[in-house]
Amino acid sequence: MNTQDVEISSQELLLRLNDALASEGDGQQRLNQIAEIVSQSMGVDVCSIYLHRDPKTLELCATKGLNPEAVHVTRLRVNEGLVGRVSRLSEPVNSPDAPSEKGFRYMAETGEERYSSFLGVPIQRLGQTLGVLVVQTKDARKFHLSEVNTLAVVATVLAEMRETGIITGEGKALSALHTQPASYKGFVAHEGFAEGKVLLHEPRVVITNPVTDNPKKELKRLNGAIEELRGTVDYLLDSQTQHSISLEQREVLETYRMFANSSGWLTRMEGNIATGLSAEASVEKEQSEARARMEKSTDPYLKDRFHDLDDLFNRLLRILTGQGRHLKDDIPDNPILIARNIGPGELLEYGRNLEGIVLEEGSVGSHATIIARAMAIPLVIHVKGITTEALNDDVIFIDGENQSVHLRPDEFVAASIHNRIEMAETVRATYAKIRQLPARTLDGTNVRLYINAGLMAELPNLERSGAEGVGLFRTELRFLDTNRIPSREELANQYSTVLDSAKGKRVVFRTVDIGSDKMVPYLKREEEPNPAMGWRAIRISLDKPGLLQMQIQALIQGANGRPLNIMFPMVSSLEEFTQAKELCVRQISRLKRLGKVIPEHIEIGAMLETPSLAFAPNYFYQSADFLSIGGNDLKQFFFAADRQNERVRSRYHALHLSYLKFIEYICSRCNENNTKISYCGEDAGRPDIAICLAAMGVTSFSLRSASLGKVKHYLRQVDLKEIKSQINKAYAEGKVTFDEDIKLVLSKCKSSVT
Ligand code: PEP
Ligand code: MG
Repeated sequence: MNTQDVEISSQELLLRLNDALASEGDGQQRLNQIAEIVSQSMGVDVCSIYLHRDPKTLELCATKGLNPEAVHVTRLRVNEGLVGRVSRLSEPVNSPDAPSEKGFRYMAETGEERYSSFLGVPIQRLGQTLGVLVVQTKDARKFHLSEVNTLAVVATVLAEMRETGIITGEGKALSALHTQPASYKGFVAHEGFAEGKVLLHEPRVVITNPVTDNPKKELKRLNGAIEELRGTVDYLLDSQTQHSISLEQREVLETYRMFANSSGWLTRMEGNIATGLSAEASVEKEQSEARARMEKSTDPYLKDRFHDLDDLFNRLLRILTGQGRHLKDDIPDNPILIARNIGPGELLEYGRNLEGIVLEEGSVGSHATIIARAMAIPLVIHVKGITTEALNDDVIFIDGENQSVHLRPDEFVAASIHNRIEMAETVRATYAKIRQLPARTLDGTNVRLYINAGLMAELPNLERSGAEGVGLFRTELRFLDTNRIPSREELANQYSTVLDSAKGKRVVFRTVDIGSDKMVPYLKREEEPNPAMGWRAIRISLDKPGLLQMQIQALIQGANGRPLNIMFPMVSSLEEFTQAKELCVRQISRLKRLGKVIPEHIEIGAMLETPSLAFAPNYFYQSADFLSIGGNDLKQFFFAADRQNERVRSRYHALHLSYLKFIEYICSRCNENNTKISYCGEDAGRPDIAICLAAMGVTSFSLRSASLGKVKHYLRQVDLKEIKSQINKAYAEGKVTFDEDIKLVLSKCKSSVT
């Protein structure tokens, strides 16, 4: 048989399948027909369809040739037999002598001992293996590559059928996909419970026409879609818009362009159409195979490139089907966003409408996480597989207490979570009772508690939480939220509103901290090998002083005579601080000369986020009006462990005794020089860590407002002197962390206010 013949027969085979699928009958009858048609068309003795009943179990769901009694009886685990191997490795197995293959498992009830040759291909969709399609013959022969391809094409059609539910049914038949309850374990990046409906960040395309009788037309459609795709990518890269895209976006687009112009990619998809698949099914076949390869790759660079390719496939599918673009009215009530990953800018676009966020990737230290916390949205990360299982509008629960997510939960799971939501609310309500009380520890230390903020929507939290003010106002969030630089007027209005709502309480405005993972689209930048240690924060402000000058003017205008506190991010030396402070002072003098209202009291301070600043000369400590330890960054530089890299998360640990001793050293420098010190990293929101930091000498914290009541509640029950001596003892004994010790201390505290 030459390739031409096989292509024609594969096309005919698909058309026959299509007719069968369009005919009356239930899912089981359709499956039986598929097995029959494949065995006839390919001239084989057996065709069997195994589908996954659950991720670990395959079930014989239809067969032509094996004992029909075995259908829905024979089941095997993915680590059993050749069928299991195909599923486990997502790879075909082609053997002339199956019984001699390693791992072969004889299943007596099927009567398959008579068959020698075996060809099995995975039935897969979007990297998920849904089953295995097998053909067998009595005579020992190795199947031709074109036959392997034909079977793979049939498997693609089967995968689409499985997804759309037309080969599923009642009784013993398997139920439709995406209908059963599914639970996932993840990692909680922002605690809390949430109940809502799924909102997929990238809605999935459903293909209802996988087969074609007119390949010419499909080729034309595919080529048209590719042209459109190339056009969009070229336009984004080459037109005037190039100035408004960030380096990162540009890199992704370059990769897109490379793939979109690669002939191998296109040739394979055209080949799929020649075998009888529609344009969209042929794209999805390539996408599924690429995803299966991605799952096996451990190289993070390659994974990134695969993600780019996957995005490109999605774009192509959207062009071909017209599906998958969000309309405002598609957003369900109480949406819980499901995504592979998300950047801070995209998250801000969704805003506070979200009830919760579930990510397949994500990291605890990323700014998207910080924004989710700022918006008090429960966030679970590392939830593998959820983007391929969830459908828009599915009911979903986030259970932050148990680090889990429940998709389409049954009534018992739902009732148990409702119950715990109620209990958590009761405990939170008890914290409100201590809102007006000081955070005074048992040894008499008064700890001052402020909140972190950056979004206007967070301002009411100041009043609600009973905080003493805003210890960190992240001004850059306003810049991330838009694709143009906000005007001075707009900024001044924002700062004025912030001070209005603070009603005289202290507010510390941090000047823009952009760069690293907080990219703004309008800032042109060079590619950097390590952006977290690159051109960011105060470094950008000093090199491009226009932005900082404009911000200082806006701050003075917004303050309109009220006290003003300005803080510079990521300062790493005395010189940087001096330069930034001088720039500020010059602006203030200039505005004074112009007759503007200048606050009587202005404090200028710095974030302490680099270890170098801990060892700066005394003069630095004397010239800064205050310092705030940015633990998120300080930890990453102290431990040389990237805050966004989940692989090194355990090495990035605030209860590490070396870190606690380092904090003690910083506090001692501040005490000697009479410099006010506070701590505004995310760890301040955890009672165990806040207590240890306080024991080391930090007596002021700025934290997410949702955690303030809890942190205050525990601080009021501990003796910092005692804890400090325990920390020193543990350090002297050569212990590494203080985790267990502080856990024990907290276990003796009351968990709610009585
Ligand atoms: C920090 O680094 O601790 C901090 C508060 O700044 P950001 O998280 O915005 O980098
Ligand atoms: Mg920082």
